[in-house]
Amino acid sequence: MKITKVEILSAREPIQLPEPWLPAWQEPNGRYATTFGLSLYKVYTDQDIVGYGPNIGGDLHLLKNQNPLQIRQFWYDNMSGKRAGNSDKRAAGLEIALWDIMGKATNQPIHQLLGASRQRIPVYAATSRLLESHQHIEQVKLLIDLGFKAVKLRLHRPNPWDDLAVVAAVRESVGDAIEILVDANQNNASTGDGERYNFWSRRIAQQIAIELDQLNVYFLEEPLPRNDVEGLAMISDSVEMMIAGGEHTPTVGEFKPHLLAGAYDVLQPDITLTGNFGVTGLREISSVADFSGRLVIPHVTGGGNFFIMFAATLQAMATVDNCPMIEFPCDPPILTPKTLQSILTEPIWIEDDGSISVPSQPGIGVEIDESRLEVSLASEWTN
Ligand SMILES: [Mg+2]
Repeated sequence: MKITKVEILSAREPIQLPEPWLPAWQEPNGRYATTFGLSLYKVYTDQDIVGYGPNIGGDLHLLKNQNPLQIRQFWYDNMSGKRAGNSDKRAAGLEIALWDIMGKATNQPIHQLLGASRQRIPVYAATSRLLESHQHIEQVKLLIDLGFKAVKLRLHRPNPWDDLAVVAAVRESVGDAIEILVDANQNNASTGDGERYNFWSRRIAQQIAIELDQLNVYFLEEPLPRNDVEGLAMISDSVEMMIAGGEHTPTVGEFKPHLLAGAYDVLQPDITLTGNFGVTGLREISSVADFSGRLVIPHVTGGGNFFIMFAATLQAMATVDNCPMIEFPCDPPILTPKTLQSILTEPIWIEDDGSISVPSQPGIGVEIDESRLEVSLASEWTN
């Protein structure tokens, strides 16, 4: 089988958000978003099979002369973090398209092709904004009613003790009706101008962690920037609660210091955020983490391309043993299936037990309504 052409398909109209959105990690002075874009790779073969992947800005010519079924070689040449020069190609979106072709060529969803260990995976609802305590309480109650068994709250307020008060208020209001996860986003600075966000010191992070531990929080994510490996290990040693992180970790290999130092109890690779994980990398890091006695709870990026990144993450994580749940951005009324999965004929959603069925169609398993997309760029060649 040969690849003959790659197209970039983009939404004719941007996806409108119901109200302006400022995510917590860009507080206090970030720019409000009002729309999401949506852009996909469509990879053609000489056998009437096409694969889709999220467009994350990779070079389409990486697929020239690539056997679409030889995915490990593509990963070795373009993504594997063990080798120099492979961490800036942003090839993960193309790798997902190759897996889509592989599944369609063999008429199997990827997780089955790889020998799945399960068909359903629990998720947690990832909220994204800094709201007032009463608004968070209302929203968490709504998420409980929708069937979620776990929710993530954000901390990124100028005063970390205000953050803590919100988590305490939610816990007091909903009791043990839902698992609470907390993300301090200390690897993210505001992108805006003006007032600067003061990152937590190690001591502040430790004090907040001890308080969150008392509130029976499931994990604390990014209490310090990811490069402060020693600080993260110190905090991890201070509490029973798990410490999570790693969404910006560029490659599989760069989790090594964190594993050796005991910095993360939960690894959070993202299938495309750094451009180097893909289905292959998520499975690789999961295996490394498993042998190190750690969990993997993948980060999944929101936005118009969410649906395909999430579906590919589900396919990968259905084949590993140490992934208790996956991130599922859900922050009504802004982050909902309407804005994150607008192009799907059938949105991916939770069942009564708070888990999601891994798509069972061949390949990545998403059916895309192309009527809302247009070709914005194409590379064609004859191998
Ligand atoms: Mg995060």
